[in-house]
Amino acid sequence: MIKFKVITYRYDISKNEDAVRYDTMVSNLKKRWMIKDTILRVQRSKGFINNLEWDYILDEWFLFDNQFNTVWKNWENWYRLWFWSETIFSNKDIKEWYYIWDWYLDIKKAIENRCSCNYCWKQYWIERLNTQCMSCQGSEYMIEDNYCLTKITSLKFNSYDKNYRPSDEWITNHLLLQKKYTLKKEINHKKNIIERYEKEIKDRVKECDDKIIKLKFEIDTLKIKLKKYDKT
Ligand SMILES: [Zn+2]
Repeated sequence: MIKFKVITYRYDISKNEDAVRYDTMVSNLKKRWMIKDTILRVQRSKGFINNLEWDYILDEWFLFDNQFNTVWKNWENWYRLWFWSETIFSNKDIKEWYYIWDWYLDIKKAIENRCSCNYCWKQYWIERLNTQCMSCQGSEYMIEDNYCLTKITSLKFNSYDKNYRPSDEWITNHLLLQKKYTLKKEINHKKNIIERYEKEIKDRVKECDDKIIKLKFEIDTLKIKLKKYDKT
């Protein structure tokens, strides 16, 4: 489990002291090859800046090449984070937001330990690197041009191998599963139509039965009336 802190900052670089501190911070972050992500003030989620140096737990099951999630608790306490993110204000002298420092290398390592399929984005541990993804085999809309995306590649490089072709066995199984899925879908569609018709027939029969009961009652009433008339 990787537990880490988020370090927040706010500098007004029109002030000399803040400008020096900001420059030092930037040069330290750049020494770690950190790339700054920027976000407009209006797009920034509310409140996060106030949660100064909160402890977070890294979600090691689903990572990206340059960003990561905290373990899900609830919507208020769940974040998608970058290593270093800064808010864009209209006042360019204000430099504000957060970075990850002591746990940076642990998180980087965690990212290096994960790889993913480039078609369905399922992630795997690094042992599955360069193998074929079985999760999207048989996917309904996968066409031949997509086959190269099924090779499991490293998150670190965020790229796919356009020359990759899965094994013949994988392709045969994929086409069989795809066919099976399409047939199942067609059968279900026909089943739904049959069920709809059956319900309609049932409704109409009930409607007719109700009408017969009503008519019988009317006839009986008329017969009674007729008997009374005969007697008079
Ligand atoms: Zn896949």
